[in-house]
Amino acid sequence: MSASIPCLSTISELRALLDEHRGRGACVGLVPTMGALHEGHVSLIRAARAENDVAVVSIFVNPPQFGPDEDLAKYPRDLERDRQLAEEAGADLIFHPSAAEMYRDGHSTWVDVEGLTAGLCGRSRPGHFRGVCTVVTKLFAICQPERAYFGEKDAQQLAVIKHMVRDLNLLVQIVPCPTVREADGLAMSSRNVRLAPEQRAQAPMVHRALEAARELVRKGERNAAVLAGAIRTVLAEAPLGEIDYVEIVDAGELTPVTTIAGECLIALAVRFGDVRLIDNLTVTS
Ligand code: AMP
Repeated sequence: MSASIPCLSTISELRALLDEHRGRGACVGLVPTMGALHEGHVSLIRAARAENDVAVVSIFVNPPQFGPDEDLAKYPRDLERDRQLAEEAGADLIFHPSAAEMYRDGHSTWVDVEGLTAGLCGRSRPGHFRGVCTVVTKLFAICQPERAYFGEKDAQQLAVIKHMVRDLNLLVQIVPCPTVREADGLAMSSRNVRLAPEQRAQAPMVHRALEAARELVRKGERNAAVLAGAIRTVLAEAPLGEIDYVEIVDAGELTPVTTIAGECLIALAVRFGDVRLIDNLTVTS
């Protein structure tokens, strides 16, 4: 079956089409993505489909959120496949702008959320969240969605965007969606296809390490350093993975905790070659 949903590449075309829908009283749900869609994205699109009249999927590999040594050029891209997957999941249209369409000559306005972006991925990827927040704000301004869907796999991103929406009084409801995993526990990610077979074989240890920490919490362990140590011990069984960070933070403030109390986020990033994988889970005591 050939895909038939519209794929618009200009802001003016998208606005005109969404204005038409809104004129009929339709509400819009937006799923921002960088493409190379997988079941994680599909779950967001299905949620947008279920809760809105029009489900828009944006596909844009956003240059400003990549550092100079990161994988912008190597980021997987497959628009035809994405179009089909998005349609099957219930999307009504795709917005696929060029970088020149999103960032006109002389672009000089950036959205920078302080505090929440200081640690975790923000520490190892300076400028990353500034790029994310800027493009997400632009997508909100362009699409004016009632709801926007974000995955809990990117827990810091979700927290930062919720905070930004609150600070800037944006009229959009942020809908968190659970992490979708492969059968062996590896969190789905567009970057997983870039793992070599031997790296892919070790990658599930990332989730297993988090599960080990959760099990320790269940048994009564509350000391964050002990939990982080246990995670590192499990990750040692994935010698091709180089730990970027293992952190246990307050789930709201994202500040490090020494003791598990209330809701805490256990988050980590591990590099397999130049593929950086992130994962997390929340524990409560
Ligand atoms: P990306 O294309 O990687 O920028 O992701 C687009 C959206 O999909 C973000 O809100 C991600 O958090 C979400 N997402 C990515 N992977 C998953 C996953 N495995 N489960 C749920 N959501 C995901």
